[in-house]
Amino acid sequence: MNKTALQTKDLYKIYQVGDQKVEALRGVNLSVEEGKFIALTGTSGSGKSTLMHCLGGLDMPTSGEVIIDGVNLCACREKQLAKVRSEKIGFVFQNFSLLDELSVRENIALPMMLAGKKPDREYLEKLMDQLGILERQDHTPTQLSGGQQQRVAIARALVNNPAVILCDEPTGNLDQKTSGEVMELLHQVHQEFHKTCLIVTHDMHVAEGADYILEMEDGLIK
Ligand code: ADP
Ligand code: MG
Repeated sequence: MNKTALQTKDLYKIYQVGDQKVEALRGVNLSVEEGKFIALTGTSGSGKSTLMHCLGGLDMPTSGEVIIDGVNLCACREKQLAKVRSEKIGFVFQNFSLLDELSVRENIALPMMLAGKKPDREYLEKLMDQLGILERQDHTPTQLSGGQQQRVAIARALVNNPAVILCDEPTGNLDQKTSGEVMELLHQVHQEFHKTCLIVTHDMHVAEGADYILEMEDGLIK
């Protein structure tokens, strides 16, 4: 049997807004085998981003467990969580989330520096070359197109060689053509770097390329 890369057990996330409770996740049980490429769809507000944030250790669930590559994130203290997050998970956001004050190369190197590793120039250049942004390494994100910025964000997600890549609507801010190119790149990353990928998307073209599609509704996976 293949190893499980990503698992949740009875995951709940309840937001308290004033005196109102919002149940964003209502007992999600998910298990993704190592090396799979999974699309996650569902209407707006169904809990996709909340689930991704919990999976990526960016947010803590109200109850339940998140297990990434054998580590239960919910049992980690803050310092260990930061370590697991930087070593095991790469996150790609819809709005790219790059730092405009830093160059492309510096943006990509940042997770390495935060993990206390010295960025190796040769390694970074190979990665930028593989993602088609080597010539842009000294530019800042604002000097790039949306598609190029997302390439930088994908390189940043890969730089610490994580087991899992989580992408929350990575093509949501891109036109159709660029969106196709970025998806092709994510498939390439999945195959060449042997990553487990979970990708939130509304685009059925994007979802069709996945090993399988999960659909969320009202805080649960259908
Ligand atoms: P999706 O990504 O599928 O659109 P979200 O995970 O963003 O859905 O949201 C799921 C539900 O949780 C929605 O009802 C949303 O309004 C609510 N929600 C998300 N984040 C917060 C928050 N920080 N505070 C309160 N409610 C939230
Ligand atoms: Mg969302």
